[in-house]
Amino acid sequence: MEDCIFCKIANKEIPSNLVYEDENTVAFNDLNPQAPTHILVIPKKHYASLNELDNEKVMSALLTAVKNVTRKAGIKEYRTVINTGESAGQTVFHLHIHILAGRPFKWPPG
Ligand code: 5GP
Ligand code: ZN
Repeated sequence: MEDCIFCKIANKEIPSNLVYEDENTVAFNDLNPQAPTHILVIPKKHYASLNELDNEKVMSALLTAVKNVTRKAGIKEYRTVINTGESAGQTVFHLHIHILAGRPFKWPPG
């Protein structure tokens, strides 16, 4: 999708620190990390949010990618977050899963 920053990262039109890639997903370090490890996993195909995701293969690929990324990073304890919609904190409207690790996390989140 034009003018989508995460599509551009997935298509390698703009540089990013890719930490993982497979057929359907890429993962890269968050620009503004909220924990010592803060990685974003995204589908290569554009879905504005989880509400638009209608492909079970991609759903499965995203969780597989989370597992592969955490294994590769040697992380066993981590927080995963999907913000859906503005009031939930979504600011980039290309579906992404946050992986946060390296510090304790509170529950419930703010
Ligand atoms: P959201 O608030 O939508 O759940 O998360 C968006 C995340 O994307 C934020 O953590 C923000 O720091 C990150 N982000 C926004 N623009 C860029 C970018 O151009 N590159 C990278 N690597 N991360 C970005
Ligand atoms: Zn996109």
